[in-house]
Amino acid sequence: MMSVRSLAGACLSAFAALGAFAVPASAQNYPTRTITMIVPFAAGGPTDVISRIVTAHMAQTLGQSIVIENVVGAGGTTATTRAARAANDGYTLVTGHMGTHAASVPLYPKLAYHPEKDFEPVALLAGTPILILARKDFPPKDLKEFVAYVKANADKVNAAHAGIGSVSHASCELLNSILDVKPVGVPFNGTGPAMNALVAGQVDYMCDQIVNAVPQINAGTIKAYAVATPERNPSLPNVPTTAEAGLPAFQAQAWNAIFAPKGTSPAIIATLNAAANKALDDENVRKRLLELGSVIPAPANRTPEALATLVKNEIAKWTPVLKPAT
Ligand code: ASP
Repeated sequence: MMSVRSLAGACLSAFAALGAFAVPASAQNYPTRTITMIVPFAAGGPTDVISRIVTAHMAQTLGQSIVIENVVGAGGTTATTRAARAANDGYTLVTGHMGTHAASVPLYPKLAYHPEKDFEPVALLAGTPILILARKDFPPKDLKEFVAYVKANADKVNAAHAGIGSVSHASCELLNSILDVKPVGVPFNGTGPAMNALVAGQVDYMCDQIVNAVPQINAGTIKAYAVATPERNPSLPNVPTTAEAGLPAFQAQAWNAIFAPKGTSPAIIATLNAAANKALDDENVRKRLLELGSVIPAPANRTPEALATLVKNEIAKWTPVLKPAT
């Protein structure tokens, strides 16, 4: 017969063995309170809009609210630093993008975080083609004229962006290097406010994520010269591709994705990833994202592993493009 002591020991070791396979207590009933999603740019811009569309659905799945906190500055790197240093308990997340998690690496030699080492990738939310946009009364009528005009007036024209290392900055750096021009950059806290300035005619041109541009192009408040992807975007059938419009070398597509601080438990990441996937499969979420020109990632590209690979590849792609600009 087993003594009380050995019975207790057997129970303990059985418990320990079970524990090895069990979900950590912290993840078992996650989430039990409001989640904060840090958006590194001003409200109304692409990162903010995509985050709000997707997290509204994720909150229903998770049974808890997701509060968006817009933390602006330094091309999104201020907010991303804050997210990297937040508790890794699943209650603080960040919507990063091609800028915060790739382009910022070569542009900020003292960046306080590393996109690969300081974050757990959660899920890619949307691909966002880049458009060359200008104020409505900017003289060039098409992309060929734009190229000639910007080259001829390189010391007079300016380009709006969302801060050094942002998508708008990095993609216009690529465009400017192809055109061999260095316009004055006009930084904003996000391309939401930058778009307002473009609509008001206060700045000349901008390279931005499609989500921000579709409503304005359709309302006729700005000009769109081209979309920098191989195919036209279904939301803007009349906007030519850069290849069609005579500048095939300029190809740029950005993206937005959710990241959690390094060390967030795999169970929490899996819960968040499943909620993001469910949102991206929802008819209304898809409709809203597609209307704004987003490219919804295929299921195979929505895994944390696929996002890790994307970040790695994007850092490798943007580093040589942006290093000479520093
Ligand atoms: N599209 C912006 C950028 O240039 C950011 C934003 O406002 O979402 O990075």
